[in-house]
Order: sequence, then C-alpha cells, then structure tokens
Amino acid sequence: MDLSFSLKTLSPVEQPHDRQREKAPAQRPPIENLIVIGGGPAGFTAALYGARARLAPLVLLGPAPGGQAATTDLMENFPGFPEGVGGQALASLMQEQCESFGAELKVEEVTEVDFSRRPFKITTYEGEYLAKTIIVATGAQARRMGVPGEEKFIGRGVSFCATCDGFFYRDKIVVVVGGGDSAVDEALFLTKFARQVVVIHRRAELRANKHGQARLFSKLKVTMVWNTVVEEVLGENRVRGVRTRRVDTGEVGELATDGVFVYVGMNPNTQLFEGKLELDSQGYIVTDKMQHTNVAGVFAAGDVQDPYFRQVVIAAGTGAAAAIEAEHFLAANETSLTESTEKRSAPPHE
Ligand code: NAP
Repeated sequence: MDLSFSLKTLSPVEQPHDRQREKAPAQRPPIENLIVIGGGPAGFTAALYGARARLAPLVLLGPAPGGQAATTDLMENFPGFPEGVGGQALASLMQEQCESFGAELKVEEVTEVDFSRRPFKITTYEGEYLAKTIIVATGAQARRMGVPGEEKFIGRGVSFCATCDGFFYRDKIVVVVGGGDSAVDEALFLTKFARQVVVIHRRAELRANKHGQARLFSKLKVTMVWNTVVEEVLGENRVRGVRTRRVDTGEVGELATDGVFVYVGMNPNTQLFEGKLELDSQGYIVTDKMQHTNVAGVFAAGDVQDPYFRQVVIAAGTGAAAAIEAEHFLAANETSLTESTEKRSAPPHE
C-alpha cells in the first residue's frame, strides 16, 4: 500500500521536518517517568502521547510486538485509511511515530511487577526497572476451544492466525470455528488460498458485523455449518478432520479437513497482574473512564481492560487517555512518588 499520502495530507504547520524530534536518552534515568507494558496499538499510542508530553517513556514490548493488530491481514475500519491498511503496516507506523518523538522500545518480556510501593518495580528476563507511573497494555490472546486434539495439533493443522498460516493451505480444505468478527475476517482471508472454507458456528446466526457477513456469504468457496460445535480435532501426525456435534439435534459427525482455525474469542493477558490489580470475573483489568486501575499511578489501556469493544481504534484511544492521565498524575504527585501505594477498592472517578 502506498502510504505517501499521509505526508501530503498533514497541515503546513505540522510537516514532519518541522516536528521537534527527540531521541530517547542514551542512558535511562534511575526511575522512569512512565513504563508502558505492551506494544500493540494501545501501548504505542500511550507511548506516543507520553513522549510528546516529554516523559521519555520506556515501552517493554513483550513477546508479540504489534499485538493482535499485527496479525490482521487488512483492517478496513481504522479511520484515515479508505482503502484499508495492513495490520503489520499500521503497527510499524505506530511504532515509528512514537519512537520519533522519543519513546524507547525494548523487546523485553515482563516476568513480575511490584505495585505495592512507589516507585513501581518491573522485572524482565533482562533486569529490573523502577517507574513512577505504569500503563498496562498487554492486550488479549486467542481463546482455546478446550477440546481433545486442539493443543496436540497446534502448528500441525491447528492455528489461531490465518494471516500467519493461511498461505500453507493453498487448495486445501480448512475449517474456521466461531461466529464473531475474527472468524469472518479470517475466513474471508483464507478464501484467497483454500479450496474450501467451512465455517462452523454454534448458533444459527453470526455475531460478526453485517458487512463482513455479507461478504462471507457471497463467497462460493465458503460453506456454513450452523448450530454445530467441534468436539475433537482428529488426526495422527497432523490434522485430518474434526468430530462435530449439532447442538440442536445432538447428531454427531466427522468432517475431513487439513486445517482448523480457531476464533472463539479472546482472553486478556493479565496473569502477571493477578493479586496486583483488580480484575473482573473474566480476568480483565478493571478501569474507570479515565483508564485508572485500583492502584494510583497504574493505568491500563486496550484489550487488556476492554471485554466489550476490542477495536484497534478504541485501544489506541484508551492508550492516549491513559498517557494523559499518567502525565496528570506525575504533575500532581511530583513530591510523593516514592510512598507506598494505597490500594483502592474501586477505581476512582476523578
Ligand atoms: P467474539 O466476538 O467474542 O466471538 C467469538 C465467537 O466464538 C462467537 O461467535 C461465539 O459464539 C464463538 N464461541 C465462543 N466460545 C466458543 C466455543 N467454546 N465453541 C464454539 N464457538 C465458541 O470474538 P472475536 O471474533 O475474536 O472478536 C473479539 C473482538 O474483536 C470483538 O469485539 C470483535 O468485534 C473485535 N474484532 C473486530 C474486527 C473488525 O472490526 N473487523 C475484527 C476482529 C475482531 P456466540 O456467537 O454463540 O457467542
């Protein structure tokens, strides 16, 4: 995709060469102003806003830089890209933009957090960091169906990423499980390669957006299997089929397939924060409208705290809000940032 238009459409006062670009400090300060944990759209946007507020944020990218967005083939609903934009391309642009304003990015995975005292302590495989404020933007990852054979055949026919693996299914038959936007988007993507795409959904209607549904139903390669769940992934060395059960009649069947792409929802990446931050019953971080968690000075943004919308544009927006709040917090607490944190029972509404 040609991205040169983005330079042309900037206003005259905002041409890139006029921007004040700052390099990340050669040596990190002993106590960071802001550490962003996670490098998806929420984390990159938080870093961009933090950098423009002169907080010199440090972003710990974790194991999957770019987040889920980077594994999406084409995004048609991120504003500003009338032709759509590739997820990887968008993630790269976001990364470049926050770095150009002074954010420092490190490919380090956080192994432990201590939010009981300020400054907060973050431990990674490489070392330890202290920070006055934290933005958690660790996103969510694909949920498993939890049926026999699913784990066993990961990488041998079971996949959670059509964009990554679709290419290997040229002229094959693939199954997509799920009825949400991910299932529909990825099934559409798979029609570029596969001979036949069978979408298995547990109800008689999809929950995906109507535009996506219409596109899916218009594809001759797509077969819908309604009111059906996968009960087992079958195979010897690799996937050769799935055992299915109709939820309305109980009828059991087998379907031959070369690949199973699972899109049955997401789980938030919050294991690190259990007992450290308030989580809801599904494991999402509880935040208020201002992205505050129950620990003052710790904010959360993106899918890790959003069980409802889970859109890239909203993740980016909450990342911006979290960084603005981190800046306000730093300004208001400049003299007391080494005190113990008091846990609050519910996020404050300020
Ligand atoms: P989702 O919206 O939660 O959909 C999950 C689907 O899996 C649902 O259809 C659900 O069935 C089904 N399901 C759940 N557990 C199952 C199980 N154990 N066995 C079989 N089926 C099961 O998840 P998603 O599609 O990953 O989307 C996540 C969020 O990201 C959504 O908010 C979505 O709008 C957003 N998203 C947006 C776009 C886009 O805008 N283009 C693209 C991707 C994702 P039921 O319908 O019966 O509950």
